[in-house]
Amino acid sequence: MRKKVIRLTAKKIKKRTRVAKKAAKQQKKSKNFYITTAIPYVNADPHIGHALEFIQTDCIRRYYQLLGCKTFLTTGADENSLKNVQAAEAKGVTPQELCATNAEKFRRLAISLGMEFDSFLRSSVPEAHFPGSQKLWKRCAKDIYKKKYKGLYCVGCEAFYTESELKEGRCPEHDRKPEEVEEENYFFRLSKYQKQLERLIRTNALRIIPETRKHEVLSFVRSGLEDFSVSRSTSRAKGWGVPVPGDASQIMYVWFDALNIYQTAVGFGTNEKLYNQWWPCDCHVIGKGILRFHAVYWPAILLSAGLQPPKSVFVHGYITVEGKKMSKSLGNVVNPVELIDRCGAERLRYFLLHLPAFDDGDFSERALVERTNHELVENFSNLFYRITYFIEKNFGGTVPKGRPGKNEKAVQRRFTETAAKKFTPAMESFRLHEALGHVMELSTELNKYFQNAKPWEHPRDGTPLYVSVNLLKDICILLYPFLPLTSERALKALGCGRDINAIGSLSLKPGHRIKSEKLFEKIEHKPAAMAAAPTEKAKSSGKETIRMARGLIPFEEFAKLDLRIGTITDVKDHPNADKLYVMQVDLGTEKKQIVNGMKGIYRKDELQNRQVIVVCNMEPKDFRGVRSDAMLLAADDGTLLVPVKPLISGMKVR
Ligand SMILES: [Zn+2]
Repeated sequence: MRKKVIRLTAKKIKKRTRVAKKAAKQQKKSKNFYITTAIPYVNADPHIGHALEFIQTDCIRRYYQLLGCKTFLTTGADENSLKNVQAAEAKGVTPQELCATNAEKFRRLAISLGMEFDSFLRSSVPEAHFPGSQKLWKRCAKDIYKKKYKGLYCVGCEAFYTESELKEGRCPEHDRKPEEVEEENYFFRLSKYQKQLERLIRTNALRIIPETRKHEVLSFVRSGLEDFSVSRSTSRAKGWGVPVPGDASQIMYVWFDALNIYQTAVGFGTNEKLYNQWWPCDCHVIGKGILRFHAVYWPAILLSAGLQPPKSVFVHGYITVEGKKMSKSLGNVVNPVELIDRCGAERLRYFLLHLPAFDDGDFSERALVERTNHELVENFSNLFYRITYFIEKNFGGTVPKGRPGKNEKAVQRRFTETAAKKFTPAMESFRLHEALGHVMELSTELNKYFQNAKPWEHPRDGTPLYVSVNLLKDICILLYPFLPLTSERALKALGCGRDINAIGSLSLKPGHRIKSEKLFEKIEHKPAAMAAAPTEKAKSSGKETIRMARGLIPFEEFAKLDLRIGTITDVKDHPNADKLYVMQVDLGTEKKQIVNGMKGIYRKDELQNRQVIVVCNMEPKDFRGVRSDAMLLAADDGTLLVPVKPLISGMKVR
């Protein structure tokens, strides 16, 4: 009787694996997956809310990669706003300079978070974005008409508000009074599309996730849609933006062309073949504040143009900091770049992805450190090390033979079931926090199994290790969308690839070689201000005092310097200083921006592609509004120190 039960279960597992394989195969054949982040305004530094959205988008993209889909991710910079013209004026630079500097900060944030993108499109770059935007305008021409307009305009939002939408007369996003604006503009006949939009959203042809946002949009649509303005006078916009075809007095309203970045990034107006390959977009990831633009205006524009609307819009919440809304006036804006320097991108990804995907989530650095120490180090990383180290020590680093019994098969079954019935549905509906939770449940489950099997009491019995290392592989594969670097490192140590079809199977066969690896170590919570200050202990130590008096430093102090070979990939003039350059330096796995005073000493072309020695772990410093993340070694007269032969970027210097 007992045997029969086991056999049946094994059969079920096989069947399930077959079904999963078939589904993955179909997906592979038929599916391209196109996803976008919202395109941030680049009039200020990126904050942790941008980091959240970048990470969520990257996580979804990587999930589809895991399924074998071809994927494309677009992000970029929304630059044609009046706000940028005003900010540039205030700083005494051109809008082009301001946008280039600011967009670079977002691009660098995306890279340092491990977000893989295929296009970073800047909307003020004419050749990339203007032809497609003018093409879109022309295709909508039948629904565009001119009229005089007077309204309340928030420059922060670049949007008109009605009295009823304001909070005590102030913009709900920016808490400031909108300006009264009167001018003759072009309008888009949004009212015409009310019925069509309603149907699109109600039937989930345009899926708005979560449901609460879907209802919010539906009730907005049902309450009646008003035509909206899609141009500005060229004079008020100071000529900054995409010109309206055939009317030099008008430029396009920033939202009209900004939404179109999603199309121009995949070749709309410039490369139709690429466009047809990727459009319609599978998913726009956005914050709740810009829902209407994405779920109402944008699909209506596309319908008018005879183009397909996106398939889904995923709406995430905002991040509060220690229970409070993030704001400049409160001084609690979290800079994600500094956070990555202190805690690492993978920890930040873990923390942000564990927050409820659809609601507001709270951030504090202490919570990040505590949660990741507990869940990543104690639950997962320690388990990974214990299992791999045990195999290394007792079986010479090769997977031992084993005979999985009833107990093992039950654990294996729970893994397969969790992957198929919990993880997959959570990912497909963008409940990323739940999906991540399920992966961590598996880690807890494996911890339990390993603990109960007590392999240290029977070091010759290979069964617990054979099974454990295979289950470990499953966890590492499922972690890929969330912690791509960790997943890659772990799978490399296990000597296997990222094959989703291998989940639930004992594909790491006896004799297969693996290596032990410590994936995470605990970190301490150090507030930013304290991290830089010397500790009490160091101050009071007598030895320290003597050394400092003689101007000597111990070797450990010198070894703290992270010196590396870098290659200068770009040199620009500093927007606000005559004597400074802003350089981009490639360090192999990352790029750093360096501001320095080489301008009077070297021409730009003398520096381009030059290899240099970079001090990588400098505290970031602001030089007249531009961040410098590192410094170059140079002699006192400004002569650059360079290697005598070409080296690999990123190589350590000792
Ligand atoms: Zn506003």
